[in-house]
Amino acid sequence: MSNDRVTAEQRRLVIERAKGCCEYCVSQMDFATQSFSVEHILPRAKGGSSDLENLALACQGCNNHKFIKMEGLDPLTEQTVSLFHPRTQRWRNHFAWNDDYTIVIGTTPTGRATVNELYLNRAGVINLRRVLFASGEHPPSETLPKRDE
Ligand SMILES: [Zn+2]
Repeated sequence: MSNDRVTAEQRRLVIERAKGCCEYCVSQMDFATQSFSVEHILPRAKGGSSDLENLALACQGCNNHKFIKMEGLDPLTEQTVSLFHPRTQRWRNHFAWNDDYTIVIGTTPTGRATVNELYLNRAGVINLRRVLFASGEHPPSETLPKRDE
């Protein structure tokens, strides 16, 4: 199945797999005012397919900033590295939260480059994390460190 259109069924599966969260900034669809997109990780313009393994759920902000980028600059090492790939990498292996769960911190070159390029700490997103944390709706458990890893 390599058509370049995302079907309604694929969209449903992508949302279910992502548990309704942007796979980059982990904003939750249920608490967003803008619609979420099914994003092509390798852009269609660069030959990316619409197979489920090339699709990710992204909020409008992350989707706009990612656009057709696959790489970004790690501000620490000043190396150009691959951006986070939600299908082949785990969020918690590349990112962590600050103490009050409002700021995403890149813990690897890929993590840091992705925080920078996709602006994962946009003001509105930070404010929403703060409010959702206070009401017990944030952070998603998948983003927390696992003791056995
Ligand atoms: Zn996002």
